[in-house]
Amino acid sequence: MAAKANVQVVRTVAELRDAVRAYRKAGDSIALVPTMGALHRGHLALVDYAHQRCRRAVVSIFVNPTQFAPHEDLSRYPRDEAGDLAKLASVTADLVWAPNVEEMYPEGFATHICPTGAARGLEGDIRPHHFGGVATVCCKLFSQVTPDIAIFGEKDFQQLCVLKQMVRDLNLPLVIEGAPTIRESDGLALSSRNVYLTPHERAVAPVLFKSISDVAEAVRSGIGPAAAIETAVSAILAAGFARVDYVAVKDAETLSHYDGTAGRPGRVLVAAVIGKTRLIDNVPI
Ligand code: AMP
Repeated sequence: MAAKANVQVVRTVAELRDAVRAYRKAGDSIALVPTMGALHRGHLALVDYAHQRCRRAVVSIFVNPTQFAPHEDLSRYPRDEAGDLAKLASVTADLVWAPNVEEMYPEGFATHICPTGAARGLEGDIRPHHFGGVATVCCKLFSQVTPDIAIFGEKDFQQLCVLKQMVRDLNLPLVIEGAPTIRESDGLALSSRNVYLTPHERAVAPVLFKSISDVAEAVRSGIGPAAAIETAVSAILAAGFARVDYVAVKDAETLSHYDGTAGRPGRVLVAAVIGKTRLIDNVPI
């Protein structure tokens, strides 16, 4: 069997522009999959999706410091570039864009995108600077890679809404597409942060998915969201989570108040802390 080819890695904007120019010269379409590394099957599914949509799949790996608050897990965020590159070779990513912090934020960097709208509430309440950091780095990634489409997981549902809003508001010349959440067989959404879980916490964690699925089912069957949310919060705490930041039922496009009577799609979202790990998840109604 032939050895797998190594995936091409570029670390400077200049090298990236050369590679993208060559793709465009050949008439190739480009899909971008932004990640922070520590890749798992969820990320690789996004790369497969990119291949279905475009000729070239570009994956960025950048642990973006500006989306972490000082008390958050930037310094201990899992990093494994060699492992990531091997995984990306297995799904035949065309190019990996892996700048260092100085390349992304050179001396004198002073421009920041400040999203409101979908960025308000939920994660925006608990992590007030998070979506500003996400929007700014994604805007940079989009103008660096100039993809036709960028693919994000529904796992980070509010992030997906914020980025669709940014692209719409700023007339950025690309389309944002969401891809379904990949889960373990017991329902736990794959996340780079799952490596933080102790065996006991890992055994308890699927209660998140179970509880929000129950909320979605209850709302579908006509039960008011408030009662279903209360039941879910109690179940999550009883299972051993230390804190529930929110269980919420929202409009799936605007993340504003959900009015099931208007026939609009809804979404149930949760964030909760177990031990030292904060997990998020969501399901459609
Ligand atoms: P991250 O590296 O955690 O910032 O995630 C990079 C991209 O992968 C984001 O678009 C995430 O929404 C997506 N992603 C993370 N976990 C999953 C998952 N379990 N299923 C699908 N996409 C995911």
